[in-house]
Amino acid sequence: MKRQEKHADRQLQRREFIGYLLAAGCTLAVRPVCAQAVMAGSAGSPAKADAQQAGGVITLFVCGDVMTGRGVDQVLPHPGNPVLYEPYMKSATGYVQIAEEANGPIPKPVDYSYIWGDALAELARVKPDARIINLETSVTQSDEAESKSINYRMHPANIPCITAAHIDCCTLANNHVLDWGRPGLAETLQTLKTAGIKTAGAGQNLREAAAPAVIPVAGKGRVLVFSFGSESSGIPRSWAAKAGRPGVNRLPDFSAETVWGIREGIGQVKLPGDIAVASIHWGGNWGYPVPHEQQEFARQLIDEAGVDVVHGHSSHHVQGIEVYQGKPILYGCGDFLNDYEGISGHEAYRGDLALMYFVSMDSASGNLLRLQMTPMQIKHFRLNRASRSDTLWLNDVLNREGRKFGTGVELNADNSLALRWTPLI
Ligand SMILES: [Zn+2]
Repeated sequence: MKRQEKHADRQLQRREFIGYLLAAGCTLAVRPVCAQAVMAGSAGSPAKADAQQAGGVITLFVCGDVMTGRGVDQVLPHPGNPVLYEPYMKSATGYVQIAEEANGPIPKPVDYSYIWGDALAELARVKPDARIINLETSVTQSDEAESKSINYRMHPANIPCITAAHIDCCTLANNHVLDWGRPGLAETLQTLKTAGIKTAGAGQNLREAAAPAVIPVAGKGRVLVFSFGSESSGIPRSWAAKAGRPGVNRLPDFSAETVWGIREGIGQVKLPGDIAVASIHWGGNWGYPVPHEQQEFARQLIDEAGVDVVHGHSSHHVQGIEVYQGKPILYGCGDFLNDYEGISGHEAYRGDLALMYFVSMDSASGNLLRLQMTPMQIKHFRLNRASRSDTLWLNDVLNREGRKFGTGVELNADNSLALRWTPLI
């Protein structure tokens, strides 16, 4: 596409993105964005966390990509059609075979809770107020494969594997939710709805795709989850939801106008005490550098749009963390569950190591109080507590990659990591 046409096309996408409010018949009187009124006055620091009353603290569990399709689907109780159209793999069972060759047998069929492994005990211990994952697969029996190199699907009857971890919200604005066409998306949305799991980032039209998942937290406020997907993560332009077309909430770009549209969407629903999460699928799969435009976009969402937590994902490994104006920006949470065992090529990134992020926010100020991370290792298609040496490795990565953002981590005696950052003054 010529440059000029591309520009005109982006303008059009932006207009559609901003216009979803009008399509919904929403009032244009945008409520003042709460976070801006309070962010300047309070300092976020880990030390302050202990002084907070429990009632004012909202703890989120977030993680990176949960890829329960393909090989993982094949070990669950209701494996779907394993047919793949990948250049070198024609059956999803091949990924099970590779994993078993690398790490030994998987006791298939596994029960629904199996994949979460040690993460379940950690969730029970921390008791987060909201559990949010990026579900990186279509949940469908559709055979309408999109023309792309990799297509993920999980059989809808395997959805109890998501409810087994009491997940409140799945973000869907990613590059796999439409892998099996719009019929696949419709079945994904219906399956999650029937299972009582909230979704954000995809819908039957742009209004639905852009709407937040609203998670009430008794006596504390609400968590609003907005899900966005960027072209940089590989989301085709044709997947964008429109006024009369199902699809994902695809960001037209990282411009100030796009931020303005998001500000309107958040302003419509955010009330004092609410924590607004921008869950963004962006960037490539491998590599630590954070593109300048991603950082600027994240900061603008905080400065201009009332976002309190930026939950970034797409990279297959954890990336650095920034705390900007008291708000956490997780640039890349890495993969959390996948079928990559035994696949070689990027070992140096240790994509098998995952983090459970427990983000504690002060609901009054909307600022970060503490961020604890529990390291896990994906092995045998399940999450296992990471060893001390693997935890140390993650400790070093987060310190190295956090340096440019002014953050670092401390290793706790229980093998968890705690974020350290320069508090606001
Ligand atoms: Zn992705």
